[in-house]
Amino acid sequence: MAEFYVDTTAQGNGEHIVHFATCESLPPKEARLYLGSIASCGSALKKAAEKFKPVNACPRCAAAFHTA
Ligand SMILES: [Zn+2]
Repeated sequence: MAEFYVDTTAQGNGEHIVHFATCESLPPKEARLYLGSIASCGSALKKAAEKFKPVNACPRCAAAFHTA
């Protein structure tokens, strides 16, 4: 399990980025939404997509995402 956040501010391409709680590029707390403690990256992206569309995994988290 890992804790995930989604950026509430869309990127230039319209995507809302999903991060691990430990990510270096995690947005400030007023600009992120806590998704919860989630078993996998795929589940975290699905949960984020219930609130925001489209969503994508943070590139800095990506390597870790694949093992989560
Ligand atoms: Zn990240």
